[in-house]
Amino acid sequence: MNNDSFAALLAAKGLTVDDRQLEQFNRYFQLLVEWNERMNLTGITERDAVYEKHFYDSVALSFVTDMSATSSLADIGSGAGFPSLPLKICFPHLKVTIVDSLNKRIQFLQHVAAELGLEGVTCVHGRAEDIARQKEHRDRYDLVTARAVARLAALNELCLPFARTGGLFAAMKGTDPAEELEEAGRSLRELKGKVRRIVPMQLPLEQSERHVILIDKLAATPRAYPRKAGTPVKQPLL
Ligand code: SAM
Repeated sequence: MNNDSFAALLAAKGLTVDDRQLEQFNRYFQLLVEWNERMNLTGITERDAVYEKHFYDSVALSFVTDMSATSSLADIGSGAGFPSLPLKICFPHLKVTIVDSLNKRIQFLQHVAAELGLEGVTCVHGRAEDIARQKEHRDRYDLVTARAVARLAALNELCLPFARTGGLFAAMKGTDPAEELEEAGRSLRELKGKVRRIVPMQLPLEQSERHVILIDKLAATPRAYPRKAGTPVKQPLL
């Protein structure tokens, strides 16, 4: 996929990117492939696939949320930077906080942010369960997101504590998440989340299915949550 075709896919969704932003995506792609030889960042390295399945898929969150009304974004379990870094490239005003428990990935993300000249990107090494206990991160963010991190029942406990009251948690999922939603009732109640809407989407070329679950944060996180690191995934609130 060349710059023009990527820009055209975004333009079809009403999003304009300039040459500098396209160059940032190019550089991000190069760094991803380069560093992936030394550490495990992604199974996808072919240019077209990276642009569609990582870059476009990440940016797609902006098609279903209002980025102009979003100032702070937290990306939990960001891995190689998805979805937050493509969003930051397209929406430079965002203040982005990335949390990941693997320090090598955090180092990669810091390097990418510096190389691309992205300002207002903070990369935090740690477990979401621990970081959400820190005052500066708890009940703070306008928008919290996570892609491919855990099932929704566990993910609610990892992510909702970061969202401010009145904020939004957007869980990025693949195929139909109906089953995950069914088992997420208790975690939603305990973590003060309420499903607003589930938005189905499709990747533009290979057409695979995606879903974004939009969850409103109704009140401050109760003191008991999140539980000890590891517990939300091992013993989800079912
Ligand atoms: N979001 C990226 C994506 O969509 O490509 C990465 C997904 S990767 C499968 C999951 C990431 O979540 C890994 O980088 C892992 O280190 C991180 N992770 C898993 N559990 C975590 C936790 N409790 N706190 C912080 N990061 C976590």
